[in-house]
Amino acid sequence: MSPTRKPSEGLVTIKQNVPLAPYTTMGVGGPAEFLALCSSAQELVQAVGWAMEHGLPWYVLGGGSNVLVSDEGVEGLVAIYREAVPRYSVVRLEGDEALVSCPGGAPLAALAVSLARDGLSGLEWACGIPGTVAGAIAGNAGAHGMSMADILASCTAVRAGAQEQLSPAELGFSYRQCSACEDSKLIIEEAKLRMRLDHPSTCEGRVLAYRQARRLQPRLPSAGCVFRNPPQAPAGLLLERAGLKGVRVGGARFAPEHANFIVNLGGATASDVIELMKMGRRLVFEMFGILLEPEVRFLGALTLEGT
Ligand SMILES: Cc1cc2nc3c(=O)[nH]c(=O)nc-3n(C[C@H](O)[C@H](O)[C@H](O)COP(=O)(O)OP(=O)(O)OC[C@H]3O[C@@H](n4cnc5c(N)ncnc54)[C@H](O)[C@@H]3O)c2cc1C
Repeated sequence: MSPTRKPSEGLVTIKQNVPLAPYTTMGVGGPAEFLALCSSAQELVQAVGWAMEHGLPWYVLGGGSNVLVSDEGVEGLVAIYREAVPRYSVVRLEGDEALVSCPGGAPLAALAVSLARDGLSGLEWACGIPGTVAGAIAGNAGAHGMSMADILASCTAVRAGAQEQLSPAELGFSYRQCSACEDSKLIIEEAKLRMRLDHPSTCEGRVLAYRQARRLQPRLPSAGCVFRNPPQAPAGLLLERAGLKGVRVGGARFAPEHANFIVNLGGATASDVIELMKMGRRLVFEMFGILLEPEVRFLGALTLEGT
């Protein structure tokens, strides 16, 4: 299927047949049939509109830090929305409470640091999480007992061509999930976050402590935790007990530092990662009767079926 309009027409440039691996933190996978690199929400909405106009499937990415792209690549348009600078504005101040607005493409970790430096507390826990604000909303990213659901006041998103303001209740947050993001295709443009005024040095102290807590995290390319933590126990612990730490397939390996991370040793393929995930799922199920569910999102023709 090929659109009749020239891909590069309009405000945002749309390129054909572009490798996606460099746009993900895992660094594996094939090309996008069409790719749009968007530096504003306006460009993102325009790129998706282009795909819809041509009857193409489309998919939005932020930092690409929670995705595994198929080796065969992705049909249709992948629109990547990232901004370079963590810009935000305070839209309301009441007592020691502040409401800040930030673009969906803002880099999450840099935003957390920037807010802390300005004495706005609430996002310090995200200082070690790669990706964008919108990506964090779509997966209800969290760490150190906090998650996006705890601080999001509302977000502006486009759904079925119409712009909406969505409350946390409408987004349907649960553990590492946002049901509205999954049930209907949302394009997250902007977010409003609830912050508290605090001393910059206190906020920065929290950032340092959270960074310190991550010092043993695997350093090689990965997509973070591949499985969600089931209610019974952390997925990493179950995988470790099942003997998977350090187990390798091709260029991918369960990290020796943290068994719920699969790292790319160089030259890994999505098939290597899928094979490891299937192995991990099977062994954990055989040993503990617990079926692990993926936290990483699959892009393209990938499945864990047949585990
Ligand atoms: C080293 C490392 C550490 C990590 N640590 C953590 C952690 O502590 N806690 C945690 O929760 N996660 C962690 N992750 C996973 C990942 O960083 C988070 O899930 C992050 O929030 C994903 O954001 P992203 O912008 O990269 O999203 P992407 O991977 O680009 O996309 C993820 C999902 O968000 C959707 N999305 C992205 N942008 C938009 C948009 N504008 N509109 C609508 N949907 C959108 C995509 O469609 C996709 O479904 C880690 C990853 C790495 C590599």
